[in-house]
Amino acid sequence: MKRRSFLELVGLGAAGVCAVPVARALGGASRTEPAPDALPGKRWAMVVDERKCLTRDGCKACTEACHRGHNVPAMKDPRHEVKWIWKEQLADVFPERVTPYTPAAVKALPTMVLCNHCDNPPCVRVCPTQATWKRADGIVMMDEHRCIGCRYCITACPYGARSFNFEDPRPSIPGELADYPTRTRGVVEKCTFCTERLAVGKRPLCVEACEGIGCGALVFGDASDPGSPVSALLRSTDVTRRKPELGTSPHVFYVLRG
Ligand code: SF4
Repeated sequence: MKRRSFLELVGLGAAGVCAVPVARALGGASRTEPAPDALPGKRWAMVVDERKCLTRDGCKACTEACHRGHNVPAMKDPRHEVKWIWKEQLADVFPERVTPYTPAAVKALPTMVLCNHCDNPPCVRVCPTQATWKRADGIVMMDEHRCIGCRYCITACPYGARSFNFEDPRPSIPGELADYPTRTRGVVEKCTFCTERLAVGKRPLCVEACEGIGCGALVFGDASDPGSPVSALLRSTDVTRRKPELGTSPHVFYVLRG
């Protein structure tokens, strides 16, 4: 809705002239309506192919592209760290894969993690202000303007996928500011599968960066489209998800090393 039409409607509504049409018009406006050039997708998903990722020792191409493109701060205090996509030790990401006999080198394998955009996200259920919600295409969103900083979502997420801004993030954003909204102290943030890019026909920054270095370990697409590469990979490969026993139904899938 255009700003002018919106103000006209609100003005009329405030005057008590047409309260019902105002409510109807506002109710019809959707914050997740796709733009005409948006990538079509009914259920977005990602596959992280660790067989490829592990061939790139020390690689941070995806993290750097994501964090640079989303103005993610680089906090000096590790307790205040803010992360959207990063690597953790295999033993922490998939603890059920570790036995008392697993070699230390295997336990320490760097494994890519991000928000899983769960089908049944506990973070959404506990948010008292609906600052986080699941879109029809499966992406779990975060509206920092509605966030009151209660951090219930951080407690509810079993994957540690959310970060809290304990301090003003803006002075800690490295380099030039990207064309993306910055956040403030006291709000939660996380990966959104680059909805701002999907809306204009582009794929997530991490996926493009990974392809850009010739790795291709991150495959993204519409899992509901049988013709999509991500769908083909999900059908043809032995994939796993984090903590499936919790019933959250993550939509980030992993191909682990053999
Ligand atoms: Fe929510 Fe955590 Fe699932 Fe992301 S991974 S949707 S933050 S519960």
